[in-house]
Amino acid sequence: MTLQRRRFALAIAAAAVLAAPAAAQGPAAATGPVTVLRAARMVDVKQGTVVREAVVIVQGDRITASGSRLAVPPGARVIDLGDATLLPGLIDSHTHLLQNYSREIGGGDPNMVLTVATMSAAARALLGVKMGREDLEAGITTVRDVGNAGYNGDVALRDAIRAGWVVGPRMLVSTRALSAAGGQFGRLQGDAQKLVDQEYAVIGGVDDARRAVRQAFYDGADLIKVIVNTGPRVVSLAEMTTIVEEARRVNRTVAAHAIGDVATRIAATAGVSSIEHAYTVPDDVLKTMAEKHIFLVPTDYPDEFYLSGDEKPDERAQRLKNIAAFTSRSRERLARAVRMGVPIAFGSDEYYDFPGRTRGQSSLQALLAYAEAGMTPMQIIQAATVNAAELVGMGDRLGTLEPGRLADIIAVRGDPSGDIRALAAGAAFVMKGGAIVKTP
Ligand SMILES: [Zn+2]
Repeated sequence: MTLQRRRFALAIAAAAVLAAPAAAQGPAAATGPVTVLRAARMVDVKQGTVVREAVVIVQGDRITASGSRLAVPPGARVIDLGDATLLPGLIDSHTHLLQNYSREIGGGDPNMVLTVATMSAAARALLGVKMGREDLEAGITTVRDVGNAGYNGDVALRDAIRAGWVVGPRMLVSTRALSAAGGQFGRLQGDAQKLVDQEYAVIGGVDDARRAVRQAFYDGADLIKVIVNTGPRVVSLAEMTTIVEEARRVNRTVAAHAIGDVATRIAATAGVSSIEHAYTVPDDVLKTMAEKHIFLVPTDYPDEFYLSGDEKPDERAQRLKNIAAFTSRSRERLARAVRMGVPIAFGSDEYYDFPGRTRGQSSLQALLAYAEAGMTPMQIIQAATVNAAELVGMGDRLGTLEPGRLADIIAVRGDPSGDIRALAAGAAFVMKGGAIVKTP
């Protein structure tokens, strides 16, 4: 088929798809078999309350009703989940599904060189299939994948999941992160520096920044990711402002990796949508973030997460002490951000293999770190649902169990509104777009 004829055929097919259901029942009407989910509780994430004797009714890929003790429509399939809590599918705002570092290799630099030098984008997309399925089975039904995916491997995985070739979470992807010289690589010699372009879109000036944003959208990006700083290599305020302007003009968001005073201030001043990590961040930046409704994505973990597992006993004590110095500062800054009214969205930034845990199980450990910082279970649940849905630009379709939303629904054992460990343990039941992915 020639390109023109194919386009014509696709246009007719698209018109037919649009016309048929709209004419018959209106665009919002659900069709298909009805499934009723029952559980002891569900979380109303907007109100921040728990509803007892919960019932959620699903038809096709949508939620049609939710509440307490709703009547079961005739002919519906009923799934009774017992002493469990229904929640909207979790949203991880900061993933790297096409990257899985080995702790044995030691450190990010050697892992990054080996990954980029030895794995094709195709191989990494296949790795992403596994990581994505593991996320989904833990209850993470949507991810915002923010770079380190090779040359557009993230686009390939997103599209494969959408097309139903493989099972995985909904994905929003950034393609290669924009960065200053060298990306996040350690020092590379001569020809080896060509590896940088496989992983990052290096910018040097305002025109470059503008060109890189347009290239990312051409490559299939849903959003733009910027590495604002890596050591002394820092994207300038003028570059950052241009990036935000280019993305905003076409209604897309910008996620900024930024740590420390200088980089977080550049990101906040430019008006990005979220600042990732920000392990250290001054009060004036948090104030700007609260005023501009810029999300903080705290990619934090409990102390044990940072152990390699093969430390000798005396090494372990010393290492835990060093880790605690870092994590206590992170806890303090998260508590400060919450106090100052900065919106928080859950993001795991998990990209290391964790023996004995799936990618999803490992990613959910971040929720425990949020609790250590003093966030309440309900605040944490909101960070991983309604807040993250807003950040990823799907607040009208995801993040709550309201009628009309896409039926991304999970159930966890016990009551996470009383103890967040019930959520961090992962989902027992997972539904994505009305399709059951996992049952107890
Ligand atoms: Zn990251």
